[in-house]
Amino acid sequence: MANENFPIIFERSKEGRTSYSLPDLDVPELDINEGLDDAYVRKNAPDLPEVSELEIMRHYTGLSRRNYGVDSGFYPLGSCTMKYNPKINEDVARMDGFSHIHPYQDPKTVQGAMEMLYDLQTSLKEITGMHEVSLQPAAGAQGEWTGLMMIRAFHEANGDTERTKVIVPDSAHGTNPASATVAGFDAVTVKSNEKGIVDLEDLKRVVGKDTAALMLTNPNTLGLFETEILDMAKIVHEAGGKLYYDGANLNAIMGYTRPGDMGFDVVHLNLHKTFTGPHGGGGPGSGPVGVSKELEPYLPKPLLVKGADGYEFEYDRPNSIGRVKPYYGNFGINLRAYTYIRTMGAEGLKKVSEYAVLNANYMMRKLEKKFDLPYQQHCKHEFVLSGKRQKKLGVRTLDIAKRLLDYGYHPPTIYFPLNVEEGMMVEPTETESKETLDGFIDTMVAIAEEVKNDPEKVQEAPHTTIVKRMDETTAARKPILRYYK
Ligand SMILES: *Cc1c(COP(=O)(O)O)cnc(C)c1O
Repeated sequence: MANENFPIIFERSKEGRTSYSLPDLDVPELDINEGLDDAYVRKNAPDLPEVSELEIMRHYTGLSRRNYGVDSGFYPLGSCTMKYNPKINEDVARMDGFSHIHPYQDPKTVQGAMEMLYDLQTSLKEITGMHEVSLQPAAGAQGEWTGLMMIRAFHEANGDTERTKVIVPDSAHGTNPASATVAGFDAVTVKSNEKGIVDLEDLKRVVGKDTAALMLTNPNTLGLFETEILDMAKIVHEAGGKLYYDGANLNAIMGYTRPGDMGFDVVHLNLHKTFTGPHGGGGPGSGPVGVSKELEPYLPKPLLVKGADGYEFEYDRPNSIGRVKPYYGNFGINLRAYTYIRTMGAEGLKKVSEYAVLNANYMMRKLEKKFDLPYQQHCKHEFVLSGKRQKKLGVRTLDIAKRLLDYGYHPPTIYFPLNVEEGMMVEPTETESKETLDGFIDTMVAIAEEVKNDPEKVQEAPHTTIVKRMDETTAARKPILRYYK
């Protein structure tokens, strides 16, 4: 990792240099090892870098500049909704009444915070069209697992113990089959048709007495709306299964339609995506679950409710699947989502979906001239290109992604969903300006030209980053986590 332009802090070290000055000791010195077993007493001083305060500042500021976030540039990572995180959310999250309370405080002393959470639940019920919401799950994937455990409890309560299968489309996010497996089900695949949406005939073929649920995102992972959702709901419900909605793509339909109205029985939302929580290394997530009336008894407990004497945690829920997270979810991220919903209002949230869809279609129609577009209909908030044309010239999608780094962009999601060859999944979000979208389009067009005229430049990218191509497999399997060998 050493680099002459950016020496790491150990290389800046000079013996005896310090970044502090303390007055002389004017009290008796304490033996900090007193009473400690000798085995635990350090024999040598720790080998820490000896640097000045200025060197420390340069070290950390330099590190922060090597990082890339939505505040540094365009971040069109498909499926992840890397939208701007409004700073008013941070102001509200830092208010004393919210930041200086403890989760184990008597609920009577934190009624304001409880009211905020309750109002958030109410807003999410309205936005999703579900009967009840719990804010407990820590992220989307945990929401999925929580939802499936509720579906499992529901079937078991009905003596329906043969329902062992969860159906997921071939375009599904990896967490869907993973959550189904962790919840004790077998994941089975339903195929997409030539239009990129679930093939109804194939759904009829895989659905049956052993179906516990169908898990779906709508719009799906190709950014396409599942137009036959009502028929799908009918097929699954008639077979006795439940419908699970993966809400990661809600950014496209908020205010226009609701999973509850489409026939879904359980949903999760990703508040860190649709509702502007900083994420992707920037902070924790939140994956609230919403359920239909029929599934309400199985929600995690405690549930935050409004009682006769104010807001309280309801523990007396005999059919609950139990607690899924300490405290009551990730309070700070729920508060940011609440602030966002309140700032935008109902009309504002509708506009979010409108502009997210408009931005994606604008980019898609510009880029389809230079890249293959496997599914031709209008998209929702994201779209998937294929790098097949470029691959024929010897340049892979991975190379294009690396070349984007040279131009200062975070690349789109690549090689996902799995049903698109050399896939590039682009999600611009509604928070970007037309100038930013145009800048990215021009860059992609320029790279497409480079592929034709100077393929090596793309194949050997990135050229301008501090580290070049990493051996990602070894980095994951055998990470070197310390400076000294
Ligand atoms: C992000 C995402 C998930 C998982 O959500 P996390 O909050 O990252 O756990 C599930 N499904 C889809 C479609 C997603 O985009």
